[in-house]
Amino acid sequence: MTANATDPELRVLVLAPTARDAQITARILRDAGVDCHTCLHISEVCAEIDRGAGVAIITEESLFADDKNMLGQMILRQPQWSDFPFLLLTPAREPSEEARRKMDILQHMTLIRRPVQVVELLSAIRSALRDRVRQYQVRDHLLERDRQAEALVHERDRAEAANTAKSEFLANMSHEIRTPMNAIYGLSQILGASKPLTAKQEQYINTLQTSANSLLALINDLLDISKIEASSVELERIPFNLAQLVNDVSSIISVQAKLKQLRVVIEGNLDYSSVYVGDPTRLRQVLTNLCSNAVKFTHKGSITIVIDEDGIDARGMRRVMLAVRDTGIGVTKEQIDTIFQKFVQADNSITRKYGGSGLGLAISKRLIEIMGGSITVDSVPGSGSTFTVTLPLQPGSPEDSRHAPLALTTRKNAAPARGRVLLVEDNFPNVLVAGTFLEEFGYSFDVASNGHHALEQLQSQYYDAVLMDVQMPKMNGWDTTRAIRELELRDSLPVIGMTAHALSGDRERCMDAGMDDYICKPFDPNELRTKLKIFIPQRPLPN
Ligand code: ADP
Repeated sequence: MTANATDPELRVLVLAPTARDAQITARILRDAGVDCHTCLHISEVCAEIDRGAGVAIITEESLFADDKNMLGQMILRQPQWSDFPFLLLTPAREPSEEARRKMDILQHMTLIRRPVQVVELLSAIRSALRDRVRQYQVRDHLLERDRQAEALVHERDRAEAANTAKSEFLANMSHEIRTPMNAIYGLSQILGASKPLTAKQEQYINTLQTSANSLLALINDLLDISKIEASSVELERIPFNLAQLVNDVSSIISVQAKLKQLRVVIEGNLDYSSVYVGDPTRLRQVLTNLCSNAVKFTHKGSITIVIDEDGIDARGMRRVMLAVRDTGIGVTKEQIDTIFQKFVQADNSITRKYGGSGLGLAISKRLIEIMGGSITVDSVPGSGSTFTVTLPLQPGSPEDSRHAPLALTTRKNAAPARGRVLLVEDNFPNVLVAGTFLEEFGYSFDVASNGHHALEQLQSQYYDAVLMDVQMPKMNGWDTTRAIRELELRDSLPVIGMTAHALSGDRERCMDAGMDDYICKPFDPNELRTKLKIFIPQRPLPN
């Protein structure tokens, strides 16, 4: 016991009927190497147990003297791990009924009959102290467990806060980067179209455009992957025409394919009458990514987009298969296992030869999985690859068919759009970019540098459409659109938002404010042209 004798939590408390009894007991214990503390009153015993002690020696008489039940209350106060041991000195006779009831209060108690045998007392003390040591071990274990649980909660909170901060940082950075990128991208397009240019100037401008484009693609991919990782991808559920979506993607990649003299073929039945409800933007993103890869990694031959719409399952979903087949460099079996991971390319030479970041397939796979589908690859190195997307799509109702947006390609050969546009934009380079494109597409336009001016101009002039920046001082684009709708300035005035964000909530925010569509800055001139064509009735240009 001497090893623990100096530990205050293992002190032996002695409550003797008289000061003299206490002194004698204390001396015997100290001689035996037991650290003890004598108490004069039951209240002192209780206070010492609260402070920390190993065992208490009390007499039956002191139990009877405890008319305020201080011991009982102290025992109730004990933490769950504690079962404090008492040694109760009793007369040699059997305890009375009343004495038994009083003893029940003590719960963990050893009876020592008087006259006390020192050896017996010391043995009982050691046994009680060993038991108390085990209780302290349980306490320490519980404390450690609580401490670890607290640390885990703290770490989780920190990780969640860091993740939120990362998302906010990404959203803010995307805004900050995209706004000047809009100017860089747009002005490089304008410069590229201005003649005459020397061969060197043309080359510089081409490099400028390619760099701006790949930077933009990287920003978009980083935003996507961080949103996917933060599980904050919200899929849209809107009616769309799958055949048109496939056709649109095919038209877009045909431009890149033509430059490499590759043929683009669509195989399967393009049924323009079948409409689905889902997220066409995300599906288009996946298909475009697979097709761009096919073009990128194919040097001769063709790219085939295969579409196959299967039967309807028990949940009313149609199993749709979209495959992209190429005659390109292919990937090995081992590479197939890794190319869907983030930042992984088939081998180290890919970045040097083909560029890219290795994020496209990781994003595509996760998006298709979120939609409930899967992507598989079949490939023969040197002969080509087939990336196959299989996913369940919900067929749309006849009502949905009427709401499915028009295909970009059905209007391809229509007469050029003409009309008058109000450009609401406070940033001069952006005015220059958007204005130049508007003119180039044959529209006249006026500029309003804030929401209030826009409202004034709309009340005094006729416009066919409004191109509305959303982030403006004083009155932002969303509020201005709400005011346009509330004032009923014109029944069906098309308002197209221009946002510098690329986050999923932006579309809803624009639509909720009453906009008809939105375009993300820096915008692709063709996308702007197409949107204007959709919203402004076709009018031939005056000669
Ligand atoms: P990135 O194209 O930006 O490198 P991806 O995640 O889209 O990133 O593709 C990862 C890798 O998978 C590519 O770098 C390439 O090695 C391989 N890969 C993807 N598609 C094809 C394809 N059609 N043919 C050959 N290899 C491909």
